[in-house]
Amino acid sequence: MPMHEAMLYERQKDNKVKCNLCARRCLINDGAIGFCLVRKNEEGILYSKVYAKAISAAVDPISKKPLAHFNPGALVMSIATAGCNFRCQFCDNWMVSQETEATGKYFPPAEVVKAARQRNCQGISYTYTEPTIYMEYAYDTAKIAHQVGLFNTFVTNGYMTTEAVKTIAPYLDAATVDFKGGGDPDFYKSYSAVPTVEPIYECLKELQRSGIHIEITNLVIPKIGDSMDRITEMATWIRDALGRETPFHLLRFHPDYKMTTTPSTTVEIMEKAYMTARNVGLNYVYVGNLPGHPAENTYCPKCNELLIKRYSFEITQWKLAKEMRCPVCNHQIPIRGKLHPSGAPFPYALF
Ligand code: SF4
Repeated sequence: MPMHEAMLYERQKDNKVKCNLCARRCLINDGAIGFCLVRKNEEGILYSKVYAKAISAAVDPISKKPLAHFNPGALVMSIATAGCNFRCQFCDNWMVSQETEATGKYFPPAEVVKAARQRNCQGISYTYTEPTIYMEYAYDTAKIAHQVGLFNTFVTNGYMTTEAVKTIAPYLDAATVDFKGGGDPDFYKSYSAVPTVEPIYECLKELQRSGIHIEITNLVIPKIGDSMDRITEMATWIRDALGRETPFHLLRFHPDYKMTTTPSTTVEIMEKAYMTARNVGLNYVYVGNLPGHPAENTYCPKCNELLIKRYSFEITQWKLAKEMRCPVCNHQIPIRGKLHPSGAPFPYALF
């Protein structure tokens, strides 16, 4: 499979190139690859090594991304390639995100869209690994998806440059932006090899300016990433910069990859984190990876009525009235798209 020329790079002297896709802005020597391991400079031209090379493809419920306020109940064709621009020691997809050989199965954009339609998906999600690093593949797929009426969502660490957001924005409908450890810069340096967190906030602002639906997650990790002060800071930033209606998901850590000796986050800490974010004034705070917990549900911020009941990725009760209004006090709940009662078989992997 021939390599595909990359988007968003600049030629420099001595056949070097500067990649402007993510905030690392790697300066790559002739013959070398970028930090994400999947972008290669060959004689002054930057190529993607993973264009149309999916390492994983599956039909997922949209709630798994997680997106709770965007086309609830929808199914999404989820694709990923190898590679990542982070080195999270707790990554639960590390076998593909830290893959060094850019392996994968040929799955060109038109085939992804075709497969999505055949399996009754309403959208496509670029997920599991970081979609920024396979932007060319995501961009071409997203464009075709829009042509046939499918939506597109990114699950991203938010390390995209403003130029990258502007590039994908015409075809991107929703984004889940994942923080870890409350956005603590020292945590990012120590556990994810990320030099600065500022670009994530810039990316979020650009996503919002572009009219893309945003939901934010934060992975709460015992001891090293469970500071309530950090959660207060993050929730405050979300409230003030993006608005109190922005859904905020607090995700429970479970041991993985290089952090198998760190225990799962306790329910007590998760509940404390939930209350901390609620007390800042965010209207829609959720906990994730705690199936059956009441904080998986959506409540009316005005009258506290239970509106959407969930169990893990499933909606078990839907009580919203027309135009996504609370049936008790008529308050409008910010949900984009519509409810998709899928009735589909349990999500499954294609490969
Ligand atoms: S996308 Fe890859 S090559 Fe480009 S700046 Fe980020 S890590 Fe470097």
